[in-house]
Amino acid sequence: MDRELLKKKICDTIDANREKICEIGRSIYANPELGYKEVFASGRVKEVYDELGLKYEDGLAVTGIKARLKENTTGPNVAIMGELDAVVCPDHPNADPVTGAAHCCGHFAQTAAMLGAAIGLNAVKDEIDGGNVIFLSTPAEECVELEWRKGLIAEGKLKYLGGKQEMIRTGVFDDIDVAMMVHGTNFDDNINCSARNVGFIAKNVKFIGREAHAGFAPWDGANALNAASLALMAINAIRETLKDQDCIRIHPIITKGGTLVNIVPDDVRMEMYVRGATIEAIKDANKKVNRAIKGCAYALDCEVEITDLPGYLPMVDDPGMSKVFEENARLLYPEKNIVHMEEIGGAAGDAGDVQAIIPCVQGGVGGFKNNFHSKFFQPSDEELTYIVPAKIMACTAIDLLADDAARTKEIVANFNSPYNVHNYETIWEEIMGE
Ligand SMILES: [Zn+2]
Repeated sequence: MDRELLKKKICDTIDANREKICEIGRSIYANPELGYKEVFASGRVKEVYDELGLKYEDGLAVTGIKARLKENTTGPNVAIMGELDAVVCPDHPNADPVTGAAHCCGHFAQTAAMLGAAIGLNAVKDEIDGGNVIFLSTPAEECVELEWRKGLIAEGKLKYLGGKQEMIRTGVFDDIDVAMMVHGTNFDDNINCSARNVGFIAKNVKFIGREAHAGFAPWDGANALNAASLALMAINAIRETLKDQDCIRIHPIITKGGTLVNIVPDDVRMEMYVRGATIEAIKDANKKVNRAIKGCAYALDCEVEITDLPGYLPMVDDPGMSKVFEENARLLYPEKNIVHMEEIGGAAGDAGDVQAIIPCVQGGVGGFKNNFHSKFFQPSDEELTYIVPAKIMACTAIDLLADDAARTKEIVANFNSPYNVHNYETIWEEIMGE
């Protein structure tokens, strides 16, 4: 069948299943779960695969799922990814009353859109012969609950904080040649086909002071909260030494500020990211931050334990993947403003790690309103939230696999990175080693 007819059949199938796709999105929005705990969301994903008759593996990187459109194929594999997890925002109207989790980053829509693409492509799967499409539900994109995840790392259940990183480490990406996904935005008129975003190192800090009666004998204590406060000020003083073009962002929080008000705080914890546009810039800023923290602990007679954890690599969309995505955005939505983001964005994602090893694009489609990661964040337009990304991704897959997957082969041949699935871990060993 002709490529345009295939795309029409896919889009008609997605339209015919519009209510079902939107309902999946709404249900995950109403049942938010934090990373590595996405049991409800992955359950919904598996239900759809069972209905469609798609074979899948589950429990990947704890809660991830990998499904195949076809069986026993030989050509390249094109992955369509959808994230599963929420953030914590207890005041959001849809927050989970127990955990405070809320879908304030739109990842629920990624899962619905990925499944929409699966439903569309399933209708034409016998006519796809250049390779295969793999649907990847990826857990834990939000790099949060560092203390809890550090525990999982200590237990050997994880090595990295992010779900895609864990999937790379455990071999889930071994047979994937190229990948795509769409992240929601709050720019309804734009479809974004490529962007650059920062990467980061994540950090866990424990200031260790000395307990004493806070009223009777504070001179016997060493105040870990004062050491932490001083460290915050020192970090702020570093900012003037950071170069604008490096897009460094350092944003600490205190996760434990003491134990009881009448005891000199002896255990104060912080979490933070050190973000930047390049690995070199991140490493440089991270050194300054660690030196400031250690100096402030010393100044207040405290000890300090700093645990640096691999965050995510800077995101750089593959130009070849971005082009196929753009062509399909223009074909399907010529009335939209189809853009490439020129400025480096301050958000990070574990798609950055995927982009270091295979050609991958993270497009951006609107459909949300108000600030991300805030209680005001909401889906605003179900067509944009779920249906538009489903159609663009499914049609992009058709182009990537047409003519014996000629586009995919060309994109893979042009991919210029020293890294791949086999040496991925050396990237982080080099970053964290110094
Ligand atoms: Zn997000």
